[in-house]
Amino acid sequence: MLPDIRSQTRETLAAQFAAWGQPSYRLDQLLGWLYARRAASWDVMSNLSKALREELAKTWSLHLPELVTKQGSSDTTQKFLWRLADGALIESVLIPANPALYGDDSDRHTLCISTQVGCAYGCRFCASGLDGFKRNLEISEIVGQILAVERWAASQPVEPAPATTAADGTPIPAPPPRVPERIVNNIVVMGMGEPMANYDHLMPALRALNATWGCGIGARKITISTSGVVPRIRELARDPLQFRLAISLHGATDAVRGQIMPINRKYPLAELTAACEDYVKQKGKMITLEYILIAGVNDGLDQVLPLANLAHRLHAKVNLIPYNKVEDLPWERPSDEACETFTDQLDQHEVVVTLRREKGHDIDAACGQLRLKTEKQEGYGSLEA
Ligand code: SAH
Ligand code: SF4
Repeated sequence: MLPDIRSQTRETLAAQFAAWGQPSYRLDQLLGWLYARRAASWDVMSNLSKALREELAKTWSLHLPELVTKQGSSDTTQKFLWRLADGALIESVLIPANPALYGDDSDRHTLCISTQVGCAYGCRFCASGLDGFKRNLEISEIVGQILAVERWAASQPVEPAPATTAADGTPIPAPPPRVPERIVNNIVVMGMGEPMANYDHLMPALRALNATWGCGIGARKITISTSGVVPRIRELARDPLQFRLAISLHGATDAVRGQIMPINRKYPLAELTAACEDYVKQKGKMITLEYILIAGVNDGLDQVLPLANLAHRLHAKVNLIPYNKVEDLPWERPSDEACETFTDQLDQHEVVVTLRREKGHDIDAACGQLRLKTEKQEGYGSLEA
């Protein structure tokens, strides 16, 4: 199969257009079709000549992820299950902005995207790694999740505005319904897979999402979450773009973290902390420490002081997330009371802390769960190659 055009850098496309003797504005037109208009076929690119479209089709393929199922309603968290060109299944989760919390427009959303099919990191609590690792996502498949969600959103029927009447009784026709041009204004790379283990595809994908010729999403609106791949954190610290960083900590001592996250053996807390310090120093940006609360595993109050010390040392905020139950795994979320006690204790140590009221745990929103369920139903069996 030909490589996907959305996996090519702008420079590669520019070089090919130059070789074909095409003027540079043609490339801008093509990029407009690929990213702003989310084209799913060459035929729609009406301002490119038929001959050029044929050349393009001979050189590259053009795919967007195909929607298998969607769970959730338009005013709550919605989960998309996609099928890729080779049949692999991945997930993205669309989370509406909460105007009360963030003062954001209600048609603004955060999209949580995947970077791999499965995950090789084997964190004990996580559904994404349960069936092992299959492959890295291509650049086009990372970017494609945003484009496919926006295509889907644009295709949804919109409520017509009511017609009104002027004071003298003249009818005023209803304005045309407003189709949201872009609904995704925040991206969190927190879906299936370890993004830092697919760094070579992740970074060009994020650059395309950020670029003015691409999707135009601000770098500060894009957060990469990692289980702690130290060399890549150091590399990201030197990247010119200001992407945000979140660390999946889930344990504030090596004993507790090592029990649930195998990566802690390769990069123990001392090394992870040093890399985060380097990142904060280079970027001058606050990082987030993600901490899932799992009953009887990492919710002991003995974790509070080491966690507070880490947060202070890194000038980081702490995001506590009550564990989302995964079928087939023994782990449970602590009681609401236990979660609140843990939060209060951190607060008393003057840590900037939030306790997330998990959105969407009723629709299998924790990463990897919907895919796992669908694979079982469709009889895909193990993903192990
Ligand atoms: N591999 C990366 C990004 C994907 S996981 C990472 O680990 O950071 C995104 C987040 O979801 C991580 O913080 C992960 O620990 C968390 N997570 C995984 N399973 C979960 C579950 N069952 N309940 C709540 N959070 C979970
Ligand atoms: Fe992979 Fe992240 Fe899940 Fe760990 S938490 S298994 S790194 S997706």
